[in-house]
Amino acid sequence: MDAEDTRRIESKQVNFEKPHLIKDSVFRPVIPDYNGNRTLYFERTFACNCPETPTSWSFRVTFQRLPLSGVSCLIAIRRTDDRPGLVDVEFRMIIQPSSLTETFLLRFNSKIPAGRADRRIFPEVIPVKAVERLSGRYLHVELFLFVEGCHRER
Ligand SMILES: [Zn+2]
Repeated sequence: MDAEDTRRIESKQVNFEKPHLIKDSVFRPVIPDYNGNRTLYFERTFACNCPETPTSWSFRVTFQRLPLSGVSCLIAIRRTDDRPGLVDVEFRMIIQPSSLTETFLLRFNSKIPAGRADRRIFPEVIPVKAVERLSGRYLHVELFLFVEGCHRER
């Protein structure tokens, strides 16, 4: 893995009170080369400005290219604060070539206590035919982390 794999091109955090929403995006090639099991990942830590239970989060997305099954994604979300209680999170990722003619999506929901992480593997997020066509191209990747259940409804 070379150093460029973790370089961030663009980053924007947005906070709304209900639900809390963290948004992040990159525009770069994310489909790895065939060489071995090379993976591409990026990682970021965010804090939620909740009036009752301020939480903090980091997430990591690993793109892995496999010869016969396209690109799979490993998503790891970690809650890094020490406040008591479970908090609901929904993670969404949208991958789009600049032409906007096709979109690749994944989504997962979890309940995460303080100090814990949840990891999921999503096979064939980008099918093998699209991988061949899009390899080396810049792709828009948008990441959303919705955080709920950390404060009472008003
Ligand atoms: Zn809250």
